[in-house]
This record gives sequence, C-alpha cells and structure tokens, in this order.
Amino acid sequence: MTPKEVLALCRENDVKAVDFRFMDFPGLWQHFTIPVNHLSEDTFEDGLGFDGSSIRGWQAINESDMLVVPQPDTAFVDPFTQLPTLVLICNIQDPITREDYSRDPRNVCRKAANYLKSTGIADTCFIGPEAEFFVFDDVRFDQRPQHGFYYIDSVEGEWNRGRDEGPNLGYKLRHKEGYFPVPPADSLMDLRNEMMQTMIECGLNVEAQHHEVSTAGQCEIDMRFNEMVKMADDLLIYKYVIKNVAKRNNRTATFMPKPVFSDNGSGMHTHFSFWKDNEPLFAGSGYAGLSETALYAIGGLLKHAPAVLAFTNPTTNSYKRLVPGYEAPVNLAYSQRNRSASCRIPMYSPSPKAKRVEFRCPDPTCNPYLAFAAITMAAIDGIQNKIDPGQPLDKDIYDLPPEEAAAVPKTPGSLDEALDALAADHEFLLRGDVFTKDVIETWIEYKRKNEADAIRLRPHPYEFCLYYDI
Ligand code: GLN
Ligand code: MG
Ligand code: MG
Ligand code: MG
Repeated sequence: MTPKEVLALCRENDVKAVDFRFMDFPGLWQHFTIPVNHLSEDTFEDGLGFDGSSIRGWQAINESDMLVVPQPDTAFVDPFTQLPTLVLICNIQDPITREDYSRDPRNVCRKAANYLKSTGIADTCFIGPEAEFFVFDDVRFDQRPQHGFYYIDSVEGEWNRGRDEGPNLGYKLRHKEGYFPVPPADSLMDLRNEMMQTMIECGLNVEAQHHEVSTAGQCEIDMRFNEMVKMADDLLIYKYVIKNVAKRNNRTATFMPKPVFSDNGSGMHTHFSFWKDNEPLFAGSGYAGLSETALYAIGGLLKHAPAVLAFTNPTTNSYKRLVPGYEAPVNLAYSQRNRSASCRIPMYSPSPKAKRVEFRCPDPTCNPYLAFAAITMAAIDGIQNKIDPGQPLDKDIYDLPPEEAAAVPKTPGSLDEALDALAADHEFLLRGDVFTKDVIETWIEYKRKNEADAIRLRPHPYEFCLYYDI
C-alpha cells in the first residue's frame, strides 16, 4: 500500500482518527492518535514527534525527542474503536539525524532480515508462530486455589484427585483433555470464532483455531507463516485482537506462559525456514528430509539457545513452563518426533516448501521482533560456521538411562540463568550491527532489575504456606 492508497482507504472507510503504534523495549504495543485531517502523504516522510523518555527501556530525559514514521503497508482499520480509526505500525527515528533508533525492536528485526540477505545465505526468513493463551472468566484474574499459588497440595494431592475422579457435573472437559472435544465441552468455540473472524478483518491470514490441552481455558489460533518483520507485526495484531475480543465478552486473555500450577503452560512454538530466489533452503536428503543448511541452522540455534532464550523466553514466569511433563521442551536437542526436544522437525507434509524447523522453546511473552531476530542470528551463525547439531534425540528422553539423559544439555532453569548466558554469549547477535552492545546491555539490566530481582526479592505467597507457622 502507498501513502496515497492509505489516504484513499481512510476516505472509503469514513475514518476519523489515525492511530500510530510502535513497540516498547520489553514488548508491549504503545500508541497515540491524531484526527484524520492531520494525516497527509508528507506524514509518511516527515513522521510525527513524541516524547520517548517515558517509554520503558528507552531514552534518557535529556535526549528524548523522537519520531514515529508510519509504514503505509501496515494499515488496517481498528475493529474495536467507536470512532472509525486507522492503525499504522511505525518505525522510530531520531528527529535530528533521521537515523533509525537502535533500541526500536522493529528496527532490530529489520536489521536481522537485511543481514540475512547481506550474507548471501538466503533472502527471506519465514516465521510461523503458534501463540497459545488462556481465557479466564472474570475481568479480574481469579486466584481460586486451582489458579495458582494458593493451591498448596502437591500435584498428586487431594484437589488433583478430585479433578480426575470427581463426578462430571455436565459437559466438563476432563483434566488435561482440552485437546480437543467438540462443544458443549469446548465452551470457547464462539469466542475463538469471534477472534478468528476479527483477525481476518484486520488482514491476518488465519489457518485454524482450537482449544488446547489445559481445561482452564487454553486456546490457540494459528496464522499462516510470513516474512519475519511482517510476522512480528501480525503477532501484535493477533494479541491485540485476542485481548480486546476477550474484554468485549467480559473475559480476559493472558499470554503468561504458566498461569496455572500443575497444568500445561502456553508456548509459542516458532516454525522457521530460510528461502532464496523463491526456493526453500531447508529441504534436502539429510535427517528428517532436512538440508545440510537446515542442520547447521539447528546446530547454531542449539549452541546459542541459552542466550537466545533471554529473548524468546524473557520473563520469570517463562521458566515455570520449561519443566518436564507438560509438552514444553527441556532438552537442547532436535528430533522429528520428540516433543521434549527444543527443535522438532514436523513431518506433516512431504513438500519441500513445507520443510521447516519448529523451535519449541519460545513463549508469547517475548518481544517477537527481538525473538525472531535472535533465532535468525543464531541460525546464520550455525550455517556460516558449519556448526554440527550432533545426533537427533529420537528416543524418548524418559526411557534413556539416567547418565545418558543427564548428558543432554537442558534449557536454562531461570531468567537469571538465561541473562547470564546472554551476557557470556552475544557475539553472534552483534554481527551486521543487528543487536548493538547497548541493546544487549540495556536488555540484561532492564530484565534483571525490573523482573528477575523484583521477583527474587519479594516474599512469595506460597512461602507463607511453607514457613508461616514454623
Ligand atoms: N502447551 C505446550 C507448550 O507449552 C504445547 C502443546 C502443543 O501445542 N502440543 O509448549
Ligand atoms: Mg499448534
Ligand atoms: Mg499448541
Ligand atoms: Mg507446535
């Protein structure tokens, strides 16, 4: 879409307001709005000024004037506002130098896509994320016992037995059997359809929607893969639609990876493949129909995974999901079947065009621009340095003798561990100036101070159960 076409779209839809959206550093969409008569073709050139000092992780007060530069090919009409409003996703620039801002996550992602091209390896990275989420009934997050830390029994405890063996009081899904009986047991069908339909109206290419394993209201809606920057844009629209449709129905949706203790968490399995001149580069005659390029990409991703997870699994809650027993990966290994492996090779289709790697670690609390960039950079490093991914982990890890199981490297156990790994291993991210040193340092400091330490230093409600009357 050109600026002219965006203006025409405004007229056709009787648009009255234009909303500028951009991503803050940790990963929450920000916005401000202008009346439509202030939008012209020049706006797309000149941008619009705003104060960047209050945006999380951004500029100091003394250098806070910034520009949003709207991207015409991202335009869509907001389906939730009362006043007809056009949304434009923006890049961030310095108003004096007109340089793209190095801490703008979208800029990092654009640089990763350009760096991939510049290496000559590929011209496109396609990404397909499967972002899972929970829908809860109430506008407030309800901390009934089953919803978290007030639930003091062990997994095998009283309440859990009740879940498995109690009477079925009418069309309730059986514990962990949310994937995927028909309604009335699936009570979220209409809500997901409303989400799906709204996404389509916003221009997203939705492929499927379904209930997920957890019966506490877990869902998934799948979009068709897209080029990495576009896919990160799409994912923000996806989350925006899910949250707002939930709200419209007096519910809330959360993308927290582990909202419910002793139940499945929400992942964002991320499928990716490199392409050149419209030809897929990951299909070949190696293991699971992969090319040598794909195997090296896996080698790079597995080697750098602890550091990559600082971006793909960037919250303290992320590491409550990455534990055995809930279909989340814990092994830094690859396999065509084993879902406990971080990299799975889906075998759904024999077509070379469908050949891809499914990285199962990421979760939907990531900033997708930074997460997709980090995955791509690790894969590029693997290809450039011919990093051997080792043997696939095709045996079920639980059947391996303990010494063998222990020898398989594991995902980091906490956000702190992932941040330590990033501090020690980020050379591969700095290539092509994609992630700057400042971005890495700011990320580590921000996450350490505002999240890892903030949780570590607070008395936890469950500690009161364990220790109050000692
Ligand atoms: N919820 C699981 C996870 O955390 C994935 C379940 C699935 O889609 N197979 O990764
Ligand atoms: Mg899926
Ligand atoms: Mg799923
Ligand atoms: Mg999957």
